[in-house]
Amino acid sequence: MSILNCPQCGQLDKVQKVSALFSQGTQHTSYETPSAAVQIKDTTFYGTQERNAISRTALSQKLMPPSKPDIQKPKKNLWVTKSEGYIGASISFVIGIGLAIGGIYVSVIVNDINSLWKWCGTIGFLLIIVVPITTIKQFIDVAKGKESKEHYEVEMNWYNERISEYEHAQSRWDSAYYCGRCDGVFSLGSTKLTPINEFYKFLSKYD
Ligand SMILES: [Zn+2]
Repeated sequence: MSILNCPQCGQLDKVQKVSALFSQGTQHTSYETPSAAVQIKDTTFYGTQERNAISRTALSQKLMPPSKPDIQKPKKNLWVTKSEGYIGASISFVIGIGLAIGGIYVSVIVNDINSLWKWCGTIGFLLIIVVPITTIKQFIDVAKGKESKEHYEVEMNWYNERISEYEHAQSRWDSAYYCGRCDGVFSLGSTKLTPINEFYKFLSKYD
């Protein structure tokens, strides 16, 4: 008995490769349909339009290959961890307030027009408006776990798992065989036949 024999009936005559059966049972046809008539002056013009169709046998439909997951690779945003994000946001907040207080002090109390602190006051005033808004937003993002290194890693792991599941199913599909007598699928060397209605379960298995 070769490894190509069906593990259930032990026969070879009804065994075929799944990928071959699938393409045999799939037909791409094109046909023509009349298109809308066009009236130019007194003459009516009729045209045709080419259309494409795919038809599959019932078996071929059951033996469809796994479809590629429709997911996007996560984007790298900030390269900071959650705690680094908190520290960065806190420092910019403190600097902004410090500059603003210094600036207010110099311009209102000391009133020294030529002092560098005057500039600090201007920058500080801007920072005290801008910084809290961006800081609050950053705090929220960091707290939610968005844009952190950890968040990126979690998303990346999830993405890689989906891709490797798909690749595994694809390689199972590529090397699967179907027995027409028993209406089931098996991989080479396997001792168990899986009924056709559990084909997608079969694709995700490791045996
Ligand atoms: Zn069989």
